Amino acid sequence: MREVQIGGLVPFTTIDYPGKLAAVFFLVGCPLRCAYCSNPHLLSVGDGEYDPQRMMEWLSQRIGKLEAVVFSGGEALMQGDTAIEYMRSVRALGFKIGLHTNGFYPELLKRASECVDWIGLDFKATREKYPDLTGQHIAYDNMMRSLDVWLDTGKEFEVRITCDPRFVSVADLYEIADILSGRGVKNIAIQKYIPHFEDASNPTTDAMRNQFFVDRELREKLDSMFESVTWRE
Ligand code: SF4
Repeated sequence: MREVQIGGLVPFTTIDYPGKLAAVFFLVGCPLRCAYCSNPHLLSVGDGEYDPQRMMEWLSQRIGKLEAVVFSGGEALMQGDTAIEYMRSVRALGFKIGLHTNGFYPELLKRASECVDWIGLDFKATREKYPDLTGQHIAYDNMMRSLDVWLDTGKEFEVRITCDPRFVSVADLYEIADILSGRGVKNIAIQKYIPHFEDASNPTTDAMRNQFFVDRELREKLDSMFESVTWRE
């Protein structure tokens, strides 16, 4: 089996796994091409910059200091069972495992659920707008299947909606909240879209990006629908 390809590392974070001190490993490869991707250098599967064995040794020295390792990307599950096997090895060291995922691989998520403790799942837009945003027609349906897979596990998770005004409107957000609440989702995060520095042609203004956060009616409605709504401005 090919070694896992790791393209980036955040050695210490308090915001990527709820309530835990964590490291983030960025795995290379992603099946989507989101207009706002902030990690374009990780999208193609190539050689990872970080030696997986060395990273295990690095983690061994942090037992008792870090509590969790979050796998992000790209899309970590694009590396299939190679990635899952690596997560299993990291978990065997005693770390909780988190996964930031776009939900494109529901079957792999099901297999990974045995060794993943928490996920942050992207819900990027309404079904109609998904292809324009992600470049993939089946991405929405796959993501919804992943949501159902994870709901079946009964494990904790958060659904994240990044509000890029080119692809998400206030009306869309109400619609998405209805879908998630109807599925029994408890924790969501509304994330402000911050243009990537390479996205020079981006036409959005501060006011457009802030509209979701200054809309009191929207905030009160969503806050009333879920156990927790994190507003990441
Ligand atoms: S899913 Fe994430 S990593 Fe993949 S293209 Fe979209 S924003 Fe980038």
